[in-house]
Amino acid sequence: MSAAERPDPAVPAFPAATLTVDLPAIVANFALLAKRAAPAPLAAVVKADAYGLGAVPVALALKQAGCTCFFVAELSEAITLLPHIGAGCDLYVLNGLRPGAEEACADLGAVPVLNALDQAERWSALAGDRGTRLPAAIQVDSGMSRLGMTSEDVDALLDRPEILGRLRPLLLMSHFACADDPAAATNGQQIARFRAISARFPAMARSLANSAGIFLGDEARFDLARAGIALYGGTPQEGRDGEMARVVDLRVPIIQVRELPAGAGLGYGLTGAAERARRIATVATGYADGWPRRLGNVGSGFVGGVRVPIVGRISMDSMMFDVTGLPDTAVAPGAMVELLGPNQGIDDVARDAETIAYEILTQLGRRYVRRYITLPPPAG
Ligand SMILES: *Cc1c(COP(=O)(O)O)cnc(C)c1O
Repeated sequence: MSAAERPDPAVPAFPAATLTVDLPAIVANFALLAKRAAPAPLAAVVKADAYGLGAVPVALALKQAGCTCFFVAELSEAITLLPHIGAGCDLYVLNGLRPGAEEACADLGAVPVLNALDQAERWSALAGDRGTRLPAAIQVDSGMSRLGMTSEDVDALLDRPEILGRLRPLLLMSHFACADDPAAATNGQQIARFRAISARFPAMARSLANSAGIFLGDEARFDLARAGIALYGGTPQEGRDGEMARVVDLRVPIIQVRELPAGAGLGYGLTGAAERARRIATVATGYADGWPRRLGNVGSGFVGGVRVPIVGRISMDSMMFDVTGLPDTAVAPGAMVELLGPNQGIDDVARDAETIAYEILTQLGRRYVRRYITLPPPAG
């Protein structure tokens, strides 16, 4: 860097919009969930780039904390992740085995979740060709009707023992549709159906519970639990607010402040007019950064712990807050607005936006500076 390029230390650098991911908090959530799931071990679901938080750093932190089993949705995600987590871990691909992907999946050493009979046939055929038993999970549909073998598929699979005979069937799994609602009668029905199907595969380990399922009691636990959202600080089930450690923090700088006369609308459509004069602060974060457009005139930020409402519609690259009454220094350009932090979590934002915390996390944009709070180095 030449002298001309070097920042002047007397001029403080303008702060960047910063997303901080607390890896020790993820590890703490893993430990809490593992305790709940015990004696069943706990797997980490790191699909969709670990719900938007970074699959590689998240999986490495969890591996350091003792997690040896991971789930992604897509083979492409396994291709990115497996070289980092390396041997000694199982990495399952939830969305199944697409035609033509068999060789790549086997070469990689990822474990496909076989969701239909043809997937089992193709995987088994490749195992036959290679003269080896390839590892597999089998997903059965216990009532959600999304992915997994139907009862006809299961009958056909068991009628042809040579298919499974060429495989190393590691896990029989299914997925809850309503585990977030502990009162849903369908939870018990899915458990009973899964139990009945699993009796036909007596040698296989069984897995049914996601984060919410872990809180449904002993019946739902089986031999492996698969946690996603609760690792990342989401409330796993109705009524369990505040049980998980907070993982994400998002702070964005004010880039402009203006005084707005009474009656003036603001932003696209000139919505959100008020009868009083206001002070308005604009930040450079918008729906392109994953902040839901639905939060226009509805959502909030926090400045120094004080709630500031979003006013006007949210633009692609910016949005505005009513900061009337806050001290000048607290709302000058460069001052930070908390979008996610101690005052407002992912479930709060999801509620305001009429969506779920999963969507808030997975939409977090690519323009934030991303910081990771890291684990202490492994002992020894
Ligand atoms: C996403 C997913 C999970 C994790 O669910 P959470 O609710 O985030 O804990 C577990 N199992 C399957 C099959 C999934 O698709």
